[in-house]
Amino acid sequence: MTTTAAPKVSDNELLLEVKGLKKYYPARGGFIRRGTGTVKAVDGVDLFVRKGETLGLVGESGCGKTTAGRTIIRLLEPTAGEIRFNLAGKGWVDLAKMDRRHLQQVRPHMQIIFQDPFSSLDARMTVERIVGEPLVINHVASGQALKDRVAELLRVVGMRPEYMSRYPHAFSGGQRQRLGIARALALNPSMIICDEPVSALDVSIQAQVLSLLEDLQQKFGLTYLFVAHDLSVVEHISNRVAVMYVGRVVELAKTEELYYAPKHPYTEALMAAVPKPDPRRRDRPIKLPGEVASPLNPPSGCYFHPRCRYAKSICSVETPPLVEVSPEHYSACHFSKELTLRGVSTK
Ligand code: SF4
Repeated sequence: MTTTAAPKVSDNELLLEVKGLKKYYPARGGFIRRGTGTVKAVDGVDLFVRKGETLGLVGESGCGKTTAGRTIIRLLEPTAGEIRFNLAGKGWVDLAKMDRRHLQQVRPHMQIIFQDPFSSLDARMTVERIVGEPLVINHVASGQALKDRVAELLRVVGMRPEYMSRYPHAFSGGQRQRLGIARALALNPSMIICDEPVSALDVSIQAQVLSLLEDLQQKFGLTYLFVAHDLSVVEHISNRVAVMYVGRVVELAKTEELYYAPKHPYTEALMAAVPKPDPRRRDRPIKLPGEVASPLNPPSGCYFHPRCRYAKSICSVETPPLVEVSPEHYSACHFSKELTLRGVSTK
């Protein structure tokens, strides 16, 4: 996908810049598992993240947002593209091209919090081992120093150091997610990929964990890439938001602008579905025809064209690039500048 989404901010301000990121999988089918094509889970993602901000990454399930997050941190091998990361004191490195050994040196700076606090913690390990594991693997601390650091991390996430000898099953979902956050903080990262960190939690617990993430961001100057499907949660926590559709970023803007003045028809449809506290203020949802396109066999041109109510003949032929349509507002639609789209209702 061609793009002109290069950030107009200085390299100094940026922590992460992703260009043309792709993650493809071979598709296999039939009795002998023959190759039947290529699943383009992430198909040319461009985005950038400033130091100290939260960039939300949203889209329906299967849009590739989780795969993109995990590829950025190199839990998955990228098929193509650049993952430029501003490594404190060492300048820019391209994570996409790094071998395992060099990657190991960068890992402490970029960590991940997983969605499911029930399966992401090893049930056979004590809290001390779970939270302290990154410190041990990276030879940062051992013995009493390790215990002291784990105790400190537990306090930082609002848990008592006495819990150190307990096992994950002794904790609620919210407490387990706090343990996951403590582990992610162990090596003083500059960036954390938050992979649906509250979607498995009850609503009241979600608010507590979100508030903890915000406090930690303030305290440690953290930068978040916040991957989620819950648009209300993302609106609450993000400075800017990127919307993905079938492996591509179709819109990227400051949160308020994206929610209340979207420039891409897909974002408009997503925003019409954002729940409002007052049912009298609820907009009629925009009903999208058909299913989300398959990343195995996406449509030609704009991937959204079979479902788009504004589509014209060019849409099925030419892929719209992600371009800046107003300051810091990027959209991948041929008609972004002409369309007047509605965002979340403010009535
Ligand atoms: Fe709709 Fe065409 Fe814009 Fe795609 S390029 S979102 S099909 S109007």
